[in-house]
Amino acid sequence: MTDNPYIISWNTTKRCNLACSHCYLDSAEMNGASDMSTEQCMKVMDELASFAPGAMLVLTGGEPLLRPDIFSIIRYSRKKGFTPVLGTNATLIDSEVAKELKHSGISGVGISLDSLRGEPHDKIRGVEGSYTTTMNGIEAIKKAGIPFHTQFSITEDNLYEIEGFTRFSRDLGARAVNFFFLVCTGRGQEDTALKPALYEEALQKIVRASNYYKNEIMVRARCAPHIIRYADDSTFDGFNDFSVTSGCIAAKGYLRVDPNGSVTPCPYIAPHDDTPNILNTTLFNIWNTDKAFTDIREGKLEGECGECDFSESCGGCRARSFIKNGTFLGDDPWCEYMSESEIKNRSGNENNKVVISKSAPAKIINITWSTEAEERLKNVPVFVRPLVKKGLERYAKAQGVREITPEMMQKLRSRAKH
Ligand code: SF4
Ligand code: SF4
Repeated sequence: MTDNPYIISWNTTKRCNLACSHCYLDSAEMNGASDMSTEQCMKVMDELASFAPGAMLVLTGGEPLLRPDIFSIIRYSRKKGFTPVLGTNATLIDSEVAKELKHSGISGVGISLDSLRGEPHDKIRGVEGSYTTTMNGIEAIKKAGIPFHTQFSITEDNLYEIEGFTRFSRDLGARAVNFFFLVCTGRGQEDTALKPALYEEALQKIVRASNYYKNEIMVRARCAPHIIRYADDSTFDGFNDFSVTSGCIAAKGYLRVDPNGSVTPCPYIAPHDDTPNILNTTLFNIWNTDKAFTDIREGKLEGECGECDFSESCGGCRARSFIKNGTFLGDDPWCEYMSESEIKNRSGNENNKVVISKSAPAKIINITWSTEAEERLKNVPVFVRPLVKKGLERYAKAQGVREITPEMMQKLRSRAKH
């Protein structure tokens, strides 16, 4: 099993034609003055490929389609062995662009849409009419036969749409819907603070939607690792979509390259003066020596996350910890969980926290893999292999089974929807 990154998010530009209130990159620039040249982009991909072969490369922005060379970048990424995916608002996609995306070798497209209705979406995205142009883009993507998923950023205003948006995404033909829990950074600093109690409500709504539409669309929560608290209880044999996709992989299998080439463990961890740049050093060096990466990967969790029953399966959001505590290893300020023992030791409801008591996860046991199962795992694409491995091991632990076999893999595969 590789310890190298397997999902890379690359903000290829700061340019954007929308003005979303929650933008973590604070994108607005239109002239592209700070964009890397095409040649520099090729150099970045050469370096990424040398340390993260076969990774999924998420080309995003800003709006990546504002880069005139985006199709060359996609083609080159294919040549280097990546699985390229585009993160876009889809407003610039017509049938010609969709065809070109397909011919360039894009594997999939993630499309941001923040409401079922035009008016709230336009308000969040800061441009009137953007809902209609995004929906037109989705139609073009569908006609070109490109797989797509929807991306919904949760706010206090659209929280109640979670179930409806899941159904809507299914009806559109999306393979998955990703519900994003915003992190207070960039333009999202002021207005993304969904109150922790509402976070809990949103998590439960997502798990319910996932269970309800389980054979029709994959439902994922992004940047809300604590969803596993609800997911563990809710589905068949302790295994569901969230068993595989929850938990934070920043610095463990994931990194972000920003428009200038700065590398951080995830897009919500902002670069600072000492942040390494991939144009000046190797990715190997960054991954293995930069303090942000080594702290998150190797440090011992402190605070409530350190003491938590879900420390291993959840671990909290390290970006939120950094923003609140100045350290990557503190508690996640948006988590409301209190264990039974914590509740007993406290007199009352401290810090105005909502008390959530539930049974602790299954005790950790050592899981082994049969030789045949290991061989079978090697056939899974690089960028999903660690997630599949994690999901199977969680399932085995939940079942009290010590060895993973091809039969278990087959059983869960037949349950997987996509
Ligand atoms: S650190 Fe937080 S914001 Fe970053 S990927 Fe992990 S959960 Fe998401
Ligand atoms: S306290 Fe931390 S580890 Fe525990 S559930 Fe909350 S975020 Fe996850």
